[in-house]
Amino acid sequence: MIVRPQTADDVAKLVKYIVKNGLEFTIRGGGHDMMGRSQAQDAVTIDMRDIRYVKISEGKRTATIGAGINMIQLQEELDKEKLATTVGNVGHVGYTGWAIYGGYGFFNNNFGLGVDNIVGAKVVDSGGSVLDTDEHPDLLKGIRGAGGAFGVIVELRIKTYHVESILAGWVFFECQDVGSVFDNMCRNFSQLLEEDFPNEIGVSLMTTTGPMGRMCGVSFVSSFEDEEKARPWLAKIEKLGTCVMNTVETTTPLKYLHAQSAFGFNSAYGTCRTANLLSLSKVAGKLGDIAESLPAFSGPALVIHMIRGPSTDVCNSSVFANRRPHFLVELIGTSDEESQAQDTVKWAHISRSTLQHADPDNSLPGTYVSLDMSGELTYENLFGTNLPTYKDLKVKYDPKNVFMQPFSLIKI
Ligand SMILES: Cc1cc2nc3c(=O)[nH]c(=O)nc-3n(C[C@H](O)[C@H](O)[C@H](O)COP(=O)(O)OP(=O)(O)OC[C@H]3O[C@@H](n4cnc5c(N)ncnc54)[C@H](O)[C@@H]3O)c2cc1C
Repeated sequence: MIVRPQTADDVAKLVKYIVKNGLEFTIRGGGHDMMGRSQAQDAVTIDMRDIRYVKISEGKRTATIGAGINMIQLQEELDKEKLATTVGNVGHVGYTGWAIYGGYGFFNNNFGLGVDNIVGAKVVDSGGSVLDTDEHPDLLKGIRGAGGAFGVIVELRIKTYHVESILAGWVFFECQDVGSVFDNMCRNFSQLLEEDFPNEIGVSLMTTTGPMGRMCGVSFVSSFEDEEKARPWLAKIEKLGTCVMNTVETTTPLKYLHAQSAFGFNSAYGTCRTANLLSLSKVAGKLGDIAESLPAFSGPALVIHMIRGPSTDVCNSSVFANRRPHFLVELIGTSDEESQAQDTVKWAHISRSTLQHADPDNSLPGTYVSLDMSGELTYENLFGTNLPTYKDLKVKYDPKNVFMQPFSLIKI
């Protein structure tokens, strides 16, 4: 059964009914969990998509949002007020599902991770009560990293930033010999980071197979108010390889999100694996090999996100563990053809293991729960030194472990 509540009170009634009758259930936001953890056979789906309002505060520093909203719907409202917030790379992903377990995206180095931008929440607990973090401040720390482990989030209050325009797009490189191009791109980019690279610029490195064949490039997003400050860095990015195309232009966060979202498929088979690396240059050769071995059909991709700046501040107000400057490596092992899924999943598994074993000191423990399989994670990996806080909050707010996703398979 799929239920689409319209209000927080509807969610409260629904949770009471589900718990009283001992029904299995899942919570669905944008529906983009790569492991399908927001759907289950013969369970009730609490589909949050109809709860999706945006109320901007008077000073325009925060917005109160319905938890079922996706990134594009949110940014549509923020754009009208020349505002932005940290968002992910694909606009159809649910904002809440994305933000509560980390929230990587192109504004991270300037504005922080998704978890860091949540300043308040309303949650329906297992007894059907609507808890407000203004009255339960300890719960806010748990939601920032452990998200739905305490109840159904029905509303978030998030930080917003004045952003009139951004300088954003892709720089693509000639990539006939993709292995050495990707290897060099990683080495050259690592050198660039040593030149006081500004936090206002978010960069991801990527290779995939598009309709015209293999593509290798860098996404570039500058949130500098004065875009002239970004242009010298764009010129340096163009020199990471032999530039064959540059789509970087003055745009808005909304237009850029739309453009990014056009990259994805409507459906895909396969899985995703992740690795958190401290240095790219140390494993640049391996990353080149992984790029080279990418299955040559549309679907699989190697994407590397850079995490610096406020996302790496020691943050006592969240249980999210990975606070060291690092690179999130996404090994997207998917295909739009079911028959090809096995090959691409195999590539993702092997590649992750290669990166982990190449230099164990270069890897942060664990993976990113939102883009990886819970079965290989531990609670220790997920929450690090915040594990005792998570456990205390769980005992206090969900002692019967009614809310298990996406952590249900994690080894204790
Ligand atoms: C195409 C694609 C692109 C992606 N890009 C990025 C990216 O750039 N950066 C990044 O960090 N991640 C990215 N991800 C991962 C994505 O952020 C996570 O999978 C996220 O959890 C998806 O949220 P959702 O609401 O769309 O998914 P859902 O499948 O609906 O939900 C995901 C999880 O969150 C829980 N949840 C959702 N809403 C609520 C709620 N209101 N209350 C309690 N629990 C809730 C669900 O139960 C489930 O466990 C991407 C995934 C895909 C498929």
